[in-house]
Amino acid sequence: VLDVAREPGSIPGYGPIRAEHVRLLRPVGFRRILVDHDSGRPVAVDDGVTLGDPDPGTARQQILDMLQPTVVTDVAEPQHGPSARLTRLVQVRDVHCAGPGCSQTRCDRDHLTPYPAGATAAWNIGLLSDRCHQAKHHGWILERHLDGSTTWTSPLRRTYTRPSPHHAPPKTDPDAELPPLRPPPTGAAPWWATHWDPASSGPRPDGPRPDGPPRHEPPHVAEPEDDPPF
Ligand SMILES: [Zn+2]
Repeated sequence: VLDVAREPGSIPGYGPIRAEHVRLLRPVGFRRILVDHDSGRPVAVDDGVTLGDPDPGTARQQILDMLQPTVVTDVAEPQHGPSARLTRLVQVRDVHCAGPGCSQTRCDRDHLTPYPAGATAAWNIGLLSDRCHQAKHHGWILERHLDGSTTWTSPLRRTYTRPSPHHAPPKTDPDAELPPLRPPPTGAAPWWATHWDPASSGPRPDGPRPDGPPRHEPPHVAEPEDDPPF
């Protein structure tokens, strides 16, 4: 988006997209995902969305200012169910079920060590599909590693290792001379650009503008002016 790297991106629910397509995106707002320097594993996600400045040059500086090394401290939560903030991090970090060969995305948020002995915290919560969750309760032993990889030991003592879904982040130099920004888009902005606030809850509206004219005029039916003459 900043024109500083040629790494591919990905769209949740769609999959990977090429760098050229990432560069065509003009986000209305940003939510930072802070990742571990070596493994690329997400360690924190911004609570809210930061609106991007409409001017591309200012928006670029705005994002560069957000790219600062930070120390993230994991905090255990007192309750059994993870908060919205912790759920968001686990979802982004684990992507799918950690089961051997399983790519299910509709998952339980499983405590590795059962609550309350195990904390409700990022290091003890992970995504597991219903099937793999059941396996864990029937003799399969799961180990989660700090880099995001997992090791499963079957009841017959065979082990299966699954790599992390993340890679080390690309090395970009924030002080490097940046290439010129692409020219601004031509044509009118979509109607929701002035009607939808990504910081508020709710998905981006699709389709025609609700207060605009209907797409199809209802057929006109002429009312009889008088009773029939009989
Ligand atoms: Zn699974």
